Amino acid sequence: MFIGAIILFLFLVFVLYNVFAIIRAIVRWYLGDYINTYLLVARLDPLYKKPIQRYLNYYKQLNPSEKVVFEKRVQKFINQKQFIARDMDKVTDEMKALIAGAAIQLTYGYPSVYFTHFKRILIYPDDYYSNISQRYHKGEVNMGGLIVLSWKNFVDGYIDYKDGRNLGLHEMAHALRLENAVKNEEYGFLDDDILRIWTDLCYREIEKMELGESDFFRAYAATNSQEFFAVSVENFFERPEEFSNWHPKMYNTLSKLLNQDPLKIGRLG
Ligand SMILES: [Zn+2]
Repeated sequence: MFIGAIILFLFLVFVLYNVFAIIRAIVRWYLGDYINTYLLVARLDPLYKKPIQRYLNYYKQLNPSEKVVFEKRVQKFINQKQFIARDMDKVTDEMKALIAGAAIQLTYGYPSVYFTHFKRILIYPDDYYSNISQRYHKGEVNMGGLIVLSWKNFVDGYIDYKDGRNLGLHEMAHALRLENAVKNEEYGFLDDDILRIWTDLCYREIEKMELGESDFFRAYAATNSQEFFAVSVENFFERPEEFSNWHPKMYNTLSKLLNQDPLKIGRLG
């Protein structure tokens, strides 16, 4: 009798343990991203919130609940990165906030992407000389896991937010493509089929640009497919209406690829 009770007790413990394990797995499967991204992340520090509210036109257009998501994601990005000042005293809170803002704007359609491969962000005050290329640069992203930006050029991108030029978004666009290609937990988040359609459109357009038949994008976009993508991203966010009127298919493909549409910001939810 006594042994029977123990066996029954152990059996019940075993059943309950497995039931809880299954429930936990289901909750993680459905809500894991949501919990990690929105619930466990601290609210944005007011020191970072001010510059976001003041200068980020994209953020201003979001509805109140989208703004909360954006803010939390900015804080998470800042927590994960090391910001390093070069040829200047220090990295200010405003710099951190706006650089994180550019990254979150680009990845707004991918709540769990934080450019994991890129741990360090180097900031120069202005154009900087590269010993490797022996030229002056405004910014660059390299496979070693570095994002390099020049602050004056970064700010210029936001002073006029409708001219299709934005260094922050441009460099983050390079980082996005590399992040998608590096084999880590964020690998392959961009849809392969859409990426193929995009690449096809990209090479057709570069050909037209080389023949002088198209000038919607600045000439630099025709350098190669990577620069074409980065310049497209700048135009996607800064001139969405003109871009979608000029080439609806290319605009829609980029919108699907980035999982968001700047022409519909704030109108959802
Ligand atoms: Zn570039």
